[in-house]
Amino acid sequence: MTGVDSPFLATALALASAGVPVLPLRAGKLPVGNCRSCAAVACGGRPNMLDAGPCRCPAPCHAWAAATTDPAVLTSRPWVRAWRQAGSVAYHPGGAGLTVVDLDNAAAVAWARTALPATRTVTTTRGEHWIYRGAMPSANDVRPGVDIKSRMQYARWLGPGTGRMVDLPAAVRALIGREEATPRRERGGLVSSLPQRVTWDRSGATGCRHTERYVRTGLERGITLVRARTESGAGSQAFGVARFLAGQHTQCPGPCGLDTIGEQIITAAVSVGVPEPYARRAVTNGLHTGGERAA
Ligand SMILES: [Zn+2]
Ligand SMILES: [Zn+2]
Ligand SMILES: [Zn+2]
Repeated sequence: MTGVDSPFLATALALASAGVPVLPLRAGKLPVGNCRSCAAVACGGRPNMLDAGPCRCPAPCHAWAAATTDPAVLTSRPWVRAWRQAGSVAYHPGGAGLTVVDLDNAAAVAWARTALPATRTVTTTRGEHWIYRGAMPSANDVRPGVDIKSRMQYARWLGPGTGRMVDLPAAVRALIGREEATPRRERGGLVSSLPQRVTWDRSGATGCRHTERYVRTGLERGITLVRARTESGAGSQAFGVARFLAGQHTQCPGPCGLDTIGEQIITAAVSVGVPEPYARRAVTNGLHTGGERAA
């Protein structure tokens, strides 16, 4: 047996003993990569994933889905190897019956102070985590700089924080719109042009948890936004659209056909005068920034 020779493992064991499922994160704050047999979810995924599979991999593959409170797993050889290379500890809030409202910047924190009940608060690099008792579905970008991390998501452990934890309020649950929600009205009714034909289908996106309609509708709206920028700003709009759309897939096991989506955003940007290399760079960066994949 190995000793508790990583400070992260020691933290993880303490959390696990309190009923909080934990996992190691690499230095880049991302989960460790999947092992060879789990790569591209060839294993089918773990039983607790949305597309449930038979994976029993002993390594911490599949991000949040690997999170556990079992000290035998946490101190097993493949996990100890991961703890040694870890840069931080993450936990699965939903698995601990918690919801983390991740406020990414000062503006988001200021908004929360006016809109949400005070609860346990943890300081993060640029903002705060507000932690509520109760689990809910996760969602990214529910408002500018605001993510909900609960079920099927992980959050970085940055200490116990301060303040008294309260029950998950309706105000937080309401931040998540239903997936097939009515189209959001675009800025100033600007967007009245023809809907763009877009392509995206399951064949290249075997690991996407969204419906075709959902993905296509999002892509159509994004492309319409880019094409409306006939005067200026189409490049940064393309970046924003790519980032937003990629962010919708951070909880999919993947692949999600994001390159197909990216090509269509590039085409839209080029059609309103953005030089192709610039459009390509903006979209690639956007997909990368938004798509910090959870598994
Ligand atoms: Zn594996
Ligand atoms: Zn696996
Ligand atoms: Zn997806």
